[in-house]
Amino acid sequence: MSPITAKTNICMVIGDPIEHSLSPQMHNAGYASLGIDNEYVYVACPVAVDEMENFIKGVRAMNIRGVSLTIPHKLKVLEYLDEIDPVAKKIGAVNTLVNEHGKLKGYNTDWLGVLLPIEQITPIKDKTIAVLGAGGAARAVIYGIIQRGGKVTIFNRTAAHGENLAQEFGCKWLPFEERETIKDMDIIINATSVGLYPNVQETPLPRKSMAKHQLVFDVVYNPYETRLIREAKEQQAQVLHGVEMLLYQGAAQFELFTGQAAPTAAMKKILLENLVT
Ligand code: NDP
Repeated sequence: MSPITAKTNICMVIGDPIEHSLSPQMHNAGYASLGIDNEYVYVACPVAVDEMENFIKGVRAMNIRGVSLTIPHKLKVLEYLDEIDPVAKKIGAVNTLVNEHGKLKGYNTDWLGVLLPIEQITPIKDKTIAVLGAGGAARAVIYGIIQRGGKVTIFNRTAAHGENLAQEFGCKWLPFEERETIKDMDIIINATSVGLYPNVQETPLPRKSMAKHQLVFDVVYNPYETRLIREAKEQQAQVLHGVEMLLYQGAAQFELFTGQAAPTAAMKKILLENLVT
């Protein structure tokens, strides 16, 4: 028998499209693992970005507990919240909405999705860190690394995007063509969409730019193992897959929605079972 009752809190992810999202499996596996699947349920709803105003009215009317947001909804929602956490303001995007008795508050957990997996391997302070890309994911990555005292250099295809972001966050930038200099750095983070399905043969970095002393983190999680990660392994570098970011940004959302520590092992297991390899 379903544990869901009239008292169950509803959480959801919205986007357009959203059918591909693994967030329902991840969050519901977490609820089941803690035995709170009678208290919380998590679904996915296709919502067009120009329907955001109506969607927010719906959140209030139906007392939805929590919402995860994807691009471009992460930006659009900023116009409709009662309060925005200072970290989300600085990053410029809200990926998490929490309904506290009718007051809608926006947070960003993407930066934790990058920091926590790295910090399980090595401290970030004073490390030299190359960030490939200057879009939404890169903003969250750079915010987090600077918080922890890492030394960021941005490499981006469109020079102006990289330069502007570097100026905003007070870090260095170099043209994308100079990314072979990355070999001397400690950590490489790919925050571009290069290598994302279906363009799985693409990679943002030549194999020879990576070396054994490095940690290479690819935020792309579809496919599970990108060409970048495969080649980093061949160079004997340490690697972090994009699924780690997906997991830890989701775990931080889980904690905001439920007030309980996220069961990351159960959540990761279901992600790995559902990811395209
Ligand atoms: P954006 O569109 O905001 O940014 C894309 C970035 O990729 C830009 O810097 C863009 O450069 C660069 N780029 C795109 N194509 C190329 C190319 N052919 N060569 C070089 N650079 C390129 O996207 P997001 O930042 O939102 O997302 C980036 C990736 O991060 C996506 O694959 C997304 O799935 C992933 N992601 C993963 C998450 C996770 O939980 N693991 C969470 C969020 C995102 P330019 O400025 O020149 O256009």
